[in-house]
Amino acid sequence: RAKEEGRGRFRFFEQEMDARAQARRTLELDLRRAFALRQFEVYYQAQMSLHDKQVVGFEALARWRHPQRGMVSPAAFIPVAEEIGLISQIGEWVLLTACREAASWPGNQRIAVNLSPMQFGKAGLVETVAAALATSGLPPERLELEITESVLLDDTAGTLAILHQLRSLGIRIAMDDFGTGYSSLGYLRSFPFDKVKIDQSFIRDMPTDGDSAAIVKAIIGLGISLGISTTAEGVETEEQLNRLRAEGCTDIQGYLLSKPVPASDLAAIFNRSTHP
Ligand code: C2E
Ligand code: MG
Ligand code: MG
Ligand code: MG
Repeated sequence: RAKEEGRGRFRFFEQEMDARAQARRTLELDLRRAFALRQFEVYYQAQMSLHDKQVVGFEALARWRHPQRGMVSPAAFIPVAEEIGLISQIGEWVLLTACREAASWPGNQRIAVNLSPMQFGKAGLVETVAAALATSGLPPERLELEITESVLLDDTAGTLAILHQLRSLGIRIAMDDFGTGYSSLGYLRSFPFDKVKIDQSFIRDMPTDGDSAAIVKAIIGLGISLGISTTAEGVETEEQLNRLRAEGCTDIQGYLLSKPVPASDLAAIFNRSTHP
């Protein structure tokens, strides 16, 4: 009887696995077609300088508008795109789209674009970035590329050399999600980043958790010592903003200022006269 029950449970488990594998295959197929069907979009999230409360830049964030599933979060499709080797194509499209959009803005705000570690493994990254700048006419100093610590984790692809070549195009390089990877401090020594983005998990916990508050303070202090800017991600409250300003953080990004919005909604942000 116990055996039968066990078998029943195993069958249920198998069916569950089948359903999951099936859903995953469907997602892959849909993702492969998404390009041809023009289902990708780029949203933009404002970044504000705490020094003068001006919007100094925007981060480009990929969106997938699936006809049945609605907006699919990048947290769900970027990992799959990486596994099936589609991330470079998506990343290149986001880069070119964002550069073109930013070139048309009324001011000279920066545009930050996320790079997947896998884009470093593919030949021609530097040429792709140079081409995006040339095609869009965006001045290089307005482009910032965000990379995570995992990019530096293995240098077999000559990552450091590529970073230096990118830098010599005149663009900026930011370290994203800082504090969540390994040996962060060593990485800051191995490459002269222009900016460090403090991961939103620390900003979220900062008001209630003393350790998170201490880490935020330490990262800001590090930025000040190294002479590079610090952007706090995921700032949602005035309380967080005030503490970050008091600690000497240079910029913020988060729902308090604006959610990521489609290009058509950017005018409202440009025309806003006051910011939090
Ligand atoms: P990220 O680069 O760290 O981007 C910040 C994420 O935090 C975004 O999530 C943004 O919508 C979210 N966020 C911003 N402010 C707040 C806030 O106040 N509260 C909360 N709770 N969340 C906030 P999103 O757009 O879902 O993107 C998730 C991640 O997907 C990004 O994290 C990035 O790693 C990746 N991603 C997005 N677009 C691209 C892309 O074009 N290429 C690559 N390689 N990765 C991308
Ligand atoms: Mg980012
Ligand atoms: Mg981040
Ligand atoms: Mg993040």
